[in-house]
This record gives sequence, structure tokens and C-alpha cells, in this order.
Amino acid sequence: MDVAERIEQLRDQIRYHNYRYYVLNDPVVSDAEYDRLLRELEELEAAHPELVTPDSPTQRVGAPVSDQFAPVRHLEPMFSLDNAFSVDELEQWEARVERTLGRPPSGYVCELKFDGLAVSLVYRDGLLDVAATRGDGVVGEDITANVRAIRSIPLRLLDDHPPSVLEVRGEVIMTYTAFEELNRRQEEAGERLFANPRNAAAGSLRQKDPAVTASRNLSAWFYQLGHVEGGPQLASHWEALQWLKEVGFPINDHSEQAADLTAVEAYVENAERTRHDRDYPTDGAVIKVDRFDEQRTLGFTARAPRWAIAYKFPPEEQITRLLDIRINVGRTGAVTPYAVLEPVEVGGVTVSSATLHNEDEIHRKDLRIGDWVVVRRAGEVIPEVVAPVVDRRTGDEKVWHMPKTCPFCGSPIVRPEGEKVARCTGGLACPARLREWLFYFGSRGAMDIEGLGYKTIDLLISKGLISDPADIFFLKADDLAGLEGWGEVSIRNLLNAIEAAKDRPLWRLLTGLGIRHVGGTVAKLLASRYRSIDALLEASEEELAAIDGVGPVIAASIREWAESEETKQLIEKLRKAGVRLADPEPEPEAATLEGVTVVFTGSLEGFTRDEAKEAVEERGGKVASSVSKKTTVVVAGSAPGSKLAKAEQLGVPVVDEEGFRRLIESGPAVLSELT
Ligand code: NAD
Repeated sequence: MDVAERIEQLRDQIRYHNYRYYVLNDPVVSDAEYDRLLRELEELEAAHPELVTPDSPTQRVGAPVSDQFAPVRHLEPMFSLDNAFSVDELEQWEARVERTLGRPPSGYVCELKFDGLAVSLVYRDGLLDVAATRGDGVVGEDITANVRAIRSIPLRLLDDHPPSVLEVRGEVIMTYTAFEELNRRQEEAGERLFANPRNAAAGSLRQKDPAVTASRNLSAWFYQLGHVEGGPQLASHWEALQWLKEVGFPINDHSEQAADLTAVEAYVENAERTRHDRDYPTDGAVIKVDRFDEQRTLGFTARAPRWAIAYKFPPEEQITRLLDIRINVGRTGAVTPYAVLEPVEVGGVTVSSATLHNEDEIHRKDLRIGDWVVVRRAGEVIPEVVAPVVDRRTGDEKVWHMPKTCPFCGSPIVRPEGEKVARCTGGLACPARLREWLFYFGSRGAMDIEGLGYKTIDLLISKGLISDPADIFFLKADDLAGLEGWGEVSIRNLLNAIEAAKDRPLWRLLTGLGIRHVGGTVAKLLASRYRSIDALLEASEEELAAIDGVGPVIAASIREWAESEETKQLIEKLRKAGVRLADPEPEPEAATLEGVTVVFTGSLEGFTRDEAKEAVEERGGKVASSVSKKTTVVVAGSAPGSKLAKAEQLGVPVVDEEGFRRLIESGPAVLSELT
């Protein structure tokens, strides 16, 4: 294919994607993939300027308006923004700005880049007259009636002497809260779910019936003046934002002035780090040269102002291929399907698989093997397959069903009536289940056996050395000697770690035994109440259910566990191996944090999060992940997050790391001295 053909092909593809994205609000490729196509086209056109045509997607923004709405000509064109994907690219932009101005700009304004739909509003003599989408930048779509339905958008300016004409630009967005609520309602009504808040906002705003828009709980942020007649004298973008706020527009309070690129970089970094602390979606930050006279000198390209740049965060959503659906057997025998994906970069990491939770979930989302699917990974959250891209189906996709037998041990897979989770019935004979259980048993949250990773476990199982967790404690140096990768030192280290694990507190053993619904927190409750496994085995269901923090479901599961043959044999074997099955009586003078709820924010120097949590829980206190009126104290380490502000707002006491040490040494009485 020659260059001219490739250019035409790219233009056709980009036009199609523009239509899917801007008109149908239903893109079939990810933004990253779209950006790649556009970049390739820009680069080819830059190398072959003779091939640039005025109708190329590089020369205009968005897509032509659909005939669903009346056209509106903008008073001033609406532009897109050039992108920077790294700090390097921000620096290159600054260098271009400096070259044109002949000196650095006097200052910048940094704003969040809201991920929604751009709108332009025209107020005449202080009253909202027309609202339009961006369209192709010159002509947009008339959505006045729909915009009137958004509560935070003023219909009348708070200004006794309003400009005769005011054109103002902003972004209509949907908060995550409103998005989840909308998808919940869509699901109840059997309607299609929206893949993300942007598509939901765009779909809700571009509606024939404004009553639908009104029901969708949209919000807006404003960030730009367009054409103004008879307005106040404003010299800079920052002044414009302040004025827009005064006359009643919602202006985001994370906007900041920045003197130079160092300050800009700090802003961008902070905007990205706090991305998930806000209830509305942002996909980057926008940096604008502040002074209007400097903006005028810089001017525009065909698509975007030269005085602004969008710094894009790494994408949290991608579209990739669902290559297969396979299953895992967990430590309790639960069978979990997962997606095998064509690897993609999402949320800053390469993702090649994602859990699909259970069969119902797969059918609810209508995921089929071979589908193109939307994959999301936001923050620290595990990757999620959101939805199939139905319009990219070829007909060869396959519907998936749970296999009838376990691929690892051949035992039947059953799904009890009324339960979501299917189970392998192979018990300890299932090597996949055993492997997961052993890993969990030895993990830091349970028996904490250093060196007992998957690689070692796989070896021990394949050599027939281990067929249940108690077998670990019978391992001898001779068993391991001569195995590949095992020298004297590594054998000694593992055996020492195993020996040390024989004397762990009871809650660790209870956790490791993998009783359904019994994690570390419940295990601690049980250990402090019963003090020995034998006492726990004898506890009645009623008695267990009455423990605060246990309840009937966990109680039933503990009884079921206590009565199973597998449990009885395992415990006898552990006893024989010399594993500690009881806790000594507690030291009476130890500080207690009973009734105390602690929330951590930021990082501590002397504790990992797990250690800090354990220190609280060992003393009978609770650790919560968010601040509420029930929080006793917030422990703020370095670089605390939004929880600190929340604590201050609710009047919850805050202590530093030193205060935390004193709290765990002396109990909650010290709080009155510390705060
Ligand atoms: P853009 O989203 O990269 O940037 C421009 C837009 O940013 C403005 O129009 C405005 O709506 C918005 N914005 C948010 N906060 C702002 C602020 N504080 N100040 C100024 N503007 C702000 O550009 P675009 O032209 O709207 O869209 C291009 C992007 O859309 C692409 O990079 C791609 O990611 C996506 N897209 C995807 C597809 C697809 O098929 N997946 C198709 C078309 C476009």
C-alpha cells in the first residue's frame, strides 16, 4: 500500500470512529487505539504536506452533526486540544510556546480534564438562549431543552449588568455515583448498560426527549469563554474563571495558577494520583497559557489552540479480544471463570487475564469467546471485563457454559440450588484446589511460611510429597535433597520457616485452614473467644452465631467445617506434627483497643499497612477503610489522601505516626492528650 492509500484508509477509519463516538456515543475501539490512528495520520501528513486536504480529520474536530437535532453555528469555533502523553511532551509544548512568544509565558492555569461531552452555551442579556454540542467545531447540535434540564447550569446569570452576548464552554459529565445508579436502573428495566460515565453522559444529553435527560442526574463544569459582547474587562483566563464563578457557573475548585513548568508538573502528578478520590471522571489535566494577549499571539492550528495542551493520564479502559474463558479452582473448591485476553496496557499495566466471577455474570454481560470487549482497570482495582462490543461481532463468537467436570481432577462440578458459585467436588484430590489452599495456608495473612510460593508448592505436589496442608510439617531435608533448584541452604531456610510456623497464634492457623467466610478478622474473634481449636470444634451453632461479628451464615459454615471428616483428620495430623492448636491466656495488662475504629491514610515509616492493621486488631480494635462519624481516630502518615479532609470535616481526631504508637501502647485514653 502506498502512502496516499494508507492516508485515505486512516481517514476512513477515523471518520467512522468519530461517527461511532460523537454521534452514536458507542465507540468500537478504545481511545488509545483511536489516538494511535490519528497520530499515524498526523505523522504521514506532516511528512507529505502535499497530501493534506481540508476535509482530513486532522484538520477538523469531532464529527458532522446528526440530523436528529437542529444545527447551531457557534459564534466562535470550538476546538479540540493537542495531547501530551508524558512530561517530555509537555516540555516540548512549552518550548514551542516560548519560541513563538520569544520568552516564557507569564504563567499558566492548570485544570482537570473532565471526561464528558463539551457544550457551548449562549446567554443573551443574562438569559440562557441556546445550548449546543461541539459538533464539527463550527456547527453543533441544538440541545437547549436538554441543557435546561441540568440543575447546576444557570438559566439566568447572577449579574446586574450581564454581557449582551456571552458564549461559554464547559463539559457535561456524569458522576460515578449517578452512573452506577443509572446502570442499576437500566439493569432493572432490562436495558443496555453504559460502558462508562462518558458514554452515559453523552447518551443522556443527546436525547430527543428532555425528560429523559432530566432523569439522568447530569452535572457540568465550565472552563472557557467563547465570544463575548459587552462583558467585563478580563485580561486572563484565570480572571475569566473567577468571573464565571461569580455569575453562577459551576467552576471546579481544583483549577490552579502555575508560574512555570515545574509547578505544572507537580499539578499534573497530583491530579493523576488523586484521580480516584473524586466522584467524577477525569482523563487528564489541561494546561493553558493564562494571559489573553499571549493566547492571541499563539493562536490556533486547524484543530486546536496553540496556547493549551491536554496531558492525558494512561488509559483505564481498553478494547481487546476475549480469546478464551477458562476456570480456576480456589482453595475452598469454588470454581471461578476467568477471561484470557489479548494482552493490553490498561491502567498502567499489561493485562492478559481478568476474573469473570461466575457463570451468571458472564451471561448477564453477554460475553462470548472471540468477542472484542471493554476492559477496565481503575487505580488499584483488579481488571474488569465491562462489556462486549456487540457491533464488532462476526457471528463466530461462542457462548460459554460451565464445564460439567473439573479439568484438573475430573470430579463433577456442582452448583447448589440458589448459589452463584459452582464447586469442584474433588476435595483434596483436586490438585488445583490443593495448590491454592497451600499457597493461602502459607501466605503472610495466615501461617506466614516464608519461601512457600507457587513454584515450591507445584514441585512438592508433583513429587507426591504433600497432599494436604499438614504434610508441610512432616517434610524432611532428605525429601528435598537432590531436587532441582534445592541446595542445602534453601532446604534449611524452608525447613526453618516451617518449624517457626508450628508456633503461630491460633488465629493464623484458623485463617489458614480456609473455613468458608472465615478470614483474618473473624479468625481473631474466634481465637480470642475459644483460645483452642478443640474448644472451637465443640462450639454450637447458636453460640457461634451470637458472637458479635460472626452471625448465622458464618456460624453455619464453621459447624459444617467442624463436622467434616477432612477437618477431623487434618487437625489430628497437625496435632501429631506438633503444630500449636491453642493460645496461651492473654496478658492482663496489655492495652486494649476494644470499641476503637481506626482509619489510616498516607504511609507510615515504621509499619506496613498490614502491620499497622494487625497491631490494631490484635488489641481488639477495628480498622475501616473510610472515614465516618463512627471512626474513633484517623492516623495520617506522609502524603495523606482525601480521608484527612474528611476527618477534619467530620471532626474526627487525627494523630500522626508517633500518636499511633502511643495509642497502641497505652489505649484510647491517650487520644485526649494527643488531639
Ligand atoms: P480531547 O478530549 O482530547 O480534548 C478536547 C476536549 O477536552 C474539549 O473539547 C473539552 O470537551 C474537553 N475538556 C475537558 N476538560 C477541559 C478543560 N478543563 N479545558 C478545556 N477542555 C476540556 O479531544 P476531543 O477532540 O474531544 O476528542 C478526542 C479524543 O476523544 C481522542 O483523544 C480519543 O481519546 C477520543 N475519541 C475516541 C474515539 C473512539 O472511537 N474510541 C473516537 C473519537 C474520539
